[in-house]
Amino acid sequence: MSEKIPFVGKEALEAIAAKYPTPFHIYDEAGIRRTARALYKAFSWNKGFKEYFAVKATPNPYLLEILRQEGCGTDCSSFTELIMSDAVGFKGEEIMFSSNATPAEDMRLAKELGVIINLDDISHIAFLEEVAGLPELVCCRYNPGGKFAIANSIMDNPGDAKYGMTHAQLLEAYKILKTKGVKRFGLHAFLASNTVTNAYYPELASILFKLAVEIKEETGIELDFVNLSGGIGVAYRPEQTDNDLAVIGEGVRQAYENILVPAGLDKVKIFTELGRFMLAPNGALVTRVIHMKHTYKDYVGCDACAANLMRPAIYGAYHHITVLGKETAPCNHKYDVTGGLCENNDKFAVDRSLPEIEKGDLLYIHDAGAHGFAMGYNYNGKLRSAELLLKEDGSVQMIRRAETPADYFATFDTGAYAEALTASTKAAEKCR
Ligand SMILES: *Cc1c(COP(=O)(O)O)cnc(C)c1O
Repeated sequence: MSEKIPFVGKEALEAIAAKYPTPFHIYDEAGIRRTARALYKAFSWNKGFKEYFAVKATPNPYLLEILRQEGCGTDCSSFTELIMSDAVGFKGEEIMFSSNATPAEDMRLAKELGVIINLDDISHIAFLEEVAGLPELVCCRYNPGGKFAIANSIMDNPGDAKYGMTHAQLLEAYKILKTKGVKRFGLHAFLASNTVTNAYYPELASILFKLAVEIKEETGIELDFVNLSGGIGVAYRPEQTDNDLAVIGEGVRQAYENILVPAGLDKVKIFTELGRFMLAPNGALVTRVIHMKHTYKDYVGCDACAANLMRPAIYGAYHHITVLGKETAPCNHKYDVTGGLCENNDKFAVDRSLPEIEKGDLLYIHDAGAHGFAMGYNYNGKLRSAELLLKEDGSVQMIRRAETPADYFATFDTGAYAEALTASTKAAEKCR
């Protein structure tokens, strides 16, 4: 069972909402630090262990700084994520660059910043060499193909995934890189997403550790690190059981002892690139009920919509909802909880049993701290919300303001409509 208790209650959130209008995303500094410390503790047996937080999950410099203070680096997938990491103060090999279909400018910036470049394809060796030159340290991304299963249960489908190199390509890539003068090497794979089982990392580690031994035998290369990437999930549903980092760390340690150590590979560093696990439970989307509608079903109309949190709309993902102040009331009403997009999939929940909801209630949508705000978009002219940080001392800091209509129109900064849009925006101000 995963306990679904908001990290901040109704009274505090009403006070926060009086200053920062709903909807907003709010993050829990204490929870983020707790999660990072538990991860480092679970892997403390490995000298050189490092978590490279997947920036795409929650790209906010204030949150990256908290993780930096806890010893984390960042994992970037694009030009702008590299810029953000650099600006926060992550330097050189504190940054991993795991991209695919990579533009030349991204490769050049990664090389310029001296970050660890993780090659998605064998053809990227020549590409990187051509656009930026090969660095001293290079990581290669592996895709074993087929289905990825743990104890006969299929977890994901790498054979259908666009990422990584085949087994043959991977061995060939290391040989080529070595010939071209690369000195240090890493291995990376991401084989299953949002796993809610302590067996995923140990299973993945076994596969990669055996491969590391094979790489040593075939090419003479002793890997610097094995990057287990992301994929440790969270229990979005209350009936699921949360992953246990201590068990996961111990499972990886056993694989390390059994496979790498006997092969003389006892200095391999373990890296992770967790996004969801680090941040999802440590963030929430807070929205106010602005309408109740009763037709063929009972609808709750919120001031947030899928543009603020798209996982339910695109994946049918479950996000637990707490009606603030009604935590102990019986869940004897069934609702579709909706946003205002002209899209019928704009529902945070369908046929969800909840306490009776009234206009004005605040809803706390759980586990929105990763792949939440980050996946936001502007469909229907909806504006991105603010992001707030609940600090360890209980105070609240706005770490990104809400978008305004002027932001939405900002890219029409030249041409016929620039002035008219500014004038109309000004005139509309009185209605806000
Ligand atoms: C998305 C991603 C991650 C993070 O995945 P989570 O499921 O959020 O932990 C890590 N590494 C790479 C390369 C990714 O694309």
